[in-house]
Amino acid sequence: MVASRTDIERDTWEGRLRAAGLRVTRPRLLVLETLDGQQGHCSADDVVEALRRRGMPLTRGTVYKVLGDVVAAGLVMVADHGPGRAVYEIADVWHHHFVCRRCGTIIDVPCMEGHKPCLRPDVAVGEIDEAQVIFRGVCEDCRVAADR
Ligand SMILES: [Zn+2]
Ligand SMILES: [Zn+2]
Repeated sequence: MVASRTDIERDTWEGRLRAAGLRVTRPRLLVLETLDGQQGHCSADDVVEALRRRGMPLTRGTVYKVLGDVVAAGLVMVADHGPGRAVYEIADVWHHHFVCRRCGTIIDVPCMEGHKPCLRPDVAVGEIDEAQVIFRGVCEDCRVAADR
């Protein structure tokens, strides 16, 4: 996360769901709480696995459906960084991602604008509401390891 959640006024997930125009359901609450409890970025499978470990399993289909709903409502951010490798996180501060080509680590990159969309193309494609940038390269750890 770019900013700590502790300095952001925390309302309940029930409240956030309602404010986003979504019905409060048990699967939605479970998925949001699970994402909130994970450090960093989670794949849908990580969420499925975390719920299973908590003894509150949901099917993959349900988790994907819920993730789709909460992403569309702006409660959760998704970053696609390769085929089938979307990761999710609670969307407090809009930001971009750096993905290391060697170890696959994902590092948050603050957005210079701080809000969406921060980039606009020169061609008229329609109405843009979001630009997600994925930076790729070699992370500091891998760079140092390669120098040794
Ligand atoms: Zn790396
Ligand atoms: Zn992130």
